[in-house]
Amino acid sequence: MLNLVLFGPPGAGKGTQSQKLIDQYQLIHLSTGDLLRSEIAQGTSLGMEAKKLMDQGVLVPDDVVIGMISNKLDANKDAKGFIFDGFPRTVAQAEALDQLLASKNSAIAGMLALEVNDDELERRLLLRGKDSGRPDDANPEVIRKRIVEYNTKTAPVANFYKAQQKFYSIDGIGAIDEIFASLCLVINQL
Ligand code: AMP
Repeated sequence: MLNLVLFGPPGAGKGTQSQKLIDQYQLIHLSTGDLLRSEIAQGTSLGMEAKKLMDQGVLVPDDVVIGMISNKLDANKDAKGFIFDGFPRTVAQAEALDQLLASKNSAIAGMLALEVNDDELERRLLLRGKDSGRPDDANPEVIRKRIVEYNTKTAPVANFYKAQQKFYSIDGIGAIDEIFASLCLVINQL
């Protein structure tokens, strides 16, 4: 199995690159943000609880997202591999993911981190907010909160994978196809 973590702050291009990677490597895309937005669209109680936090730009509880990922792994037993996008976002989530994969005799092959500076992120997110319809993209204060959440709770997850020699840094500024080529170069050597 080829299991990849696509890492980076909000607006780094994880969604865009995931789409290209799933086509290239026939992987299943697991985005906890997309899964949460689908719960909201369906009006589930999980979705309603998550929405309050998402609209403020803060993370939803670890057990909620770990449960969602666990269900998706179980539902896709024959997958060639997964791209985890927006997950794990805390060290506790990274530990839980290792355990879930180990119980299936699998593991993360690598974490690919898209590096983009804060000014560029804010610019991209405000631009995306014009047509994404996402409430958390529309408000500069919420965007800044999401970046702070990333820097305090999520950035340390990189160290978790560095300690396992599974961390790869990729320049996330430039043409989409160039960034994709850089990702493929790393993946083909895993
Ligand atoms: P995203 O689509 O990845 O930008 O996520 C949008 C929002 O969903 C985040 O700001 C969080 O509130 C929530 N979220 C998504 N993934 C996670 C996660 N792995 N852990 C906690 N909260 C998450």
